[in-house]
Amino acid sequence: MLKKWFGKGADNATQSQEATSAEDSLAPEEPQGTGDAPQQERLQPSSEETREDKELSGWKRFTTGLTKTRKNLKTLFSFRKALDDDYLDEIESELYSADFGPETVHVLMNGEDGVRAAWKRREISEPGHVRDYLKQILRKMLTQRDNRLNQATTGPTVVLVAGVNGTGKTTSIAKLAKSFHDAGHKVVLGAADTFRAAAVEQLTIWSERIGVEIVTGKPNADPASVAYGAAAVALEQEADYLIIDTAGRLHTQKNLMQQLGKIRNVLAKQVNEAPHECLLVLDATTGQNALNQATLFGQQIDITGLVLSKLDGTAKGGIVVAINNSLDIPVKFIGLGEQVEDLEPFDADRFVDALFES
Ligand code: GDP
Ligand code: MG
Repeated sequence: MLKKWFGKGADNATQSQEATSAEDSLAPEEPQGTGDAPQQERLQPSSEETREDKELSGWKRFTTGLTKTRKNLKTLFSFRKALDDDYLDEIESELYSADFGPETVHVLMNGEDGVRAAWKRREISEPGHVRDYLKQILRKMLTQRDNRLNQATTGPTVVLVAGVNGTGKTTSIAKLAKSFHDAGHKVVLGAADTFRAAAVEQLTIWSERIGVEIVTGKPNADPASVAYGAAAVALEQEADYLIIDTAGRLHTQKNLMQQLGKIRNVLAKQVNEAPHECLLVLDATTGQNALNQATLFGQQIDITGLVLSKLDGTAKGGIVVAINNSLDIPVKFIGLGEQVEDLEPFDADRFVDALFES
C-alpha cells in the first residue's frame, strides 16, 4: 500500500503559508466525482458480506456492546407485582446510574409524556408496560435528528475528526476507514495529529492493515499542511473519502481550536464544501464529562456529528441519550469495542432494543 510523506510545508509550524501558496499548483481544475451522489447515505454493507450477515453482526455488536448498561437497568427487567411509586423511584435511580443525566431522566419519568404522567392517565398500569413505554419515548427522542453521515455532492467526502486526547479518535478513524473500504470506496487518511509521533505511527499501522492510503508529515509538522497534502492526494486520486486525524492534547484550548480552524480552512479551500463532516469523538466512559466536552467544542467549532466511543466499556450507555437530548448535535456513530469492526452507525431502534433486551 502506498504511503505518502507530505514534505512540502511539513517541516515546522511556520510552513502553513507555503501550504497556501502551493495550493494553486496542486489543486485540480475542477472538483472530481460523480456529481450525483446522494446528500445523505448510510454506510453500505461490505461486498463480501450479505446484508443479512451485516445485520446480524451489527445487532450482536449492539447487544454485547451494551451489556454493562443493560445490567445497570435491572429493575426494568425484574418481576414486580405492582406498578407503584417505589418501582418508579427505583427505575428513576437506575436511569441516573446509567448516565441518562438529570435533564433526560426528568423528561422520561416526570415530563408531560413521561412514565409517571402515563401511569396517572392509566395509559400504563402494569410493571411490564413500563419498559415498552420507555422504549417508545426514547425512540421518539433519538430520531429527531438526522444521524446519517453527510456526503459530498462532488469529489471526496471530507471527514474531520476532533476530540480530547484518548477519546478514541484514531481508532474510530480506522474503523470508519475499514467500513468505507469494505464497501468498495477509496479512502485517504490524513495523519494531522503531528503532536505525537506515536499517533502518526498508530494511524499508519491501521492504514496498512486496512489497505488504505495515508498522508503523513514530519513530527511536529504544521497539521494544516498535512491536511493540505492529504486533500491534494485525495483529489488527485479521486478518493471517495478523506478522513483527517487531529491532535487532542494541546497546551491550551484556544490553541487547539485555532489549529482545528486552520485545518478546516485549508480543507475548505481545496474541496468544495469541505469538511462535510466534523465529527467530535467522545469517550462514553467519561459520562457527563463527555457532555461538557461536547458543549465546549460545540461553542468553538461547527460540529456536525458525534462519535461516542467505548460504549462497551461502560455501564452508562444512557449518555448517548443524554447527549442527544441536551445538544443539538446528532450521534452518528458509536464505538462498541477495540476491534476495527466495532463501530456502528447510530441506529435509534437498534440502540433502544439492545439497551432494553431482557
Ligand atoms: P485518540 O487519542 O483520541 O486518538 O484515542 P485512540 O484512538 O488512540 O484510543 C485510545 C484508547 O481507547 C485505545 O486503547 C483504543 O483501543 C481505545 N478505544 C477506542 N475506541 C474504543 C471502543 O469503542 N471501545 C473500547 N473498549 N476501547 C476503545
Ligand atoms: Mg490519536
